Amino acid sequence: MAGIYIHIPFCKQACHYCDFHFSTSLKKKDELLKAIHTELVLRKSELPQPVETIYFGGGTPSLLSKTELQTILSVVYEHYVVTPDPEITLEANPDDLSEATLKELSETAINRLSIGVQSFFEEDLKLMNRAHNASEALKSIELAKRYLNNCSIDLIYGIPGMSLQRWEENLQTALSLEVPHLSCYALTVEPKTALEAFIKKGVVAPVDDAVAQAHYETLVESTEAAGYENYEFSNFGLKGFHSRNNTAYWHGKPYLGIGPSAHSYNGDTRSWNVSNNAKYIQKVFEGDLPLEREQLSTRDKYNEYVMTRLRTQQGASLAEIETLFGLKYREYVLQQAKEYMDEGLLLLSPPFLKVSRKGKFLSDGIASGLFLVNLDS
Ligand code: SF4
Repeated sequence: MAGIYIHIPFCKQACHYCDFHFSTSLKKKDELLKAIHTELVLRKSELPQPVETIYFGGGTPSLLSKTELQTILSVVYEHYVVTPDPEITLEANPDDLSEATLKELSETAINRLSIGVQSFFEEDLKLMNRAHNASEALKSIELAKRYLNNCSIDLIYGIPGMSLQRWEENLQTALSLEVPHLSCYALTVEPKTALEAFIKKGVVAPVDDAVAQAHYETLVESTEAAGYENYEFSNFGLKGFHSRNNTAYWHGKPYLGIGPSAHSYNGDTRSWNVSNNAKYIQKVFEGDLPLEREQLSTRDKYNEYVMTRLRTQQGASLAEIETLFGLKYREYVLQQAKEYMDEGLLLLSPPFLKVSRKGKFLSDGIASGLFLVNLDS
């Protein structure tokens, strides 16, 4: 099974924290969409496996019309083997989700929405320069639920100035809306973003890791009490509503990334498309693949395995590590894990090694402590 990710690199305005690839000019939109169709055809031999998930990300794919989305899907269906019951997700911003748009989306094969709410508080939305306001966020969710029962909302915690109480209120609002899935991310300050410049100038307070950790702990408790499973570090779903796209990603399934800046992975190589709309269009129209590719070594694959699996509820399987990489890797991971187990941050529940509740917020740091520098040398 495999997935296709399609990157739509356009946004109405630039959010202050964002370092994704996008343009606020829609001038090249038609050409870019044609290039996406062409890339899908050019790369079809790369993904012979049945496609189980299709994900429109960005950028802001909800800027596209029903016809534009349907045309992309028809190219996918024409050139790839799609399973009979795929999960097809559209990332959408609240300001794009009018009732008319939602009705149109419900008439397409798209069956899941991931709505970029980020916060229900005006001050947070302003600080992040989101294009929507708090009442649009609420309204879009109420409307979305009428047309698609599989909705997820994105929230951001650890925003400068966001108290624990405000975060709790945000969560309670989200939970009271009874959406079946939440994705919650800590605000990170990426290089060369407006947020980084504001923090450097002292206009915005720095992001505080201790505050983010307190927010995360509240998040885990509140969602658990409301019946959501924290199946991956940032993802929380009711039974039957775990994202198949996210799950495939965290379990190392192959995916093909189409569109500028999109990444692909096939188990042996990783590739990434050029992050420039004009160059992307030009390359594709010349019949060239717009990407760079890297062959993964055994060490890369092992590190990747540890990084992704430790973020999941189940954890990393020692048996799988031995099958995939050999006995010495199993011994190595156990040896590296010992200090974290002694501190109660990792738990061994054979054959799985997983982060404890105490270690959860530190998952990525723990994973890097289990990485391999070079076992073969
Ligand atoms: S809408 Fe999303 S992709 Fe666009 S600028 Fe904001 S965070 Fe970035």
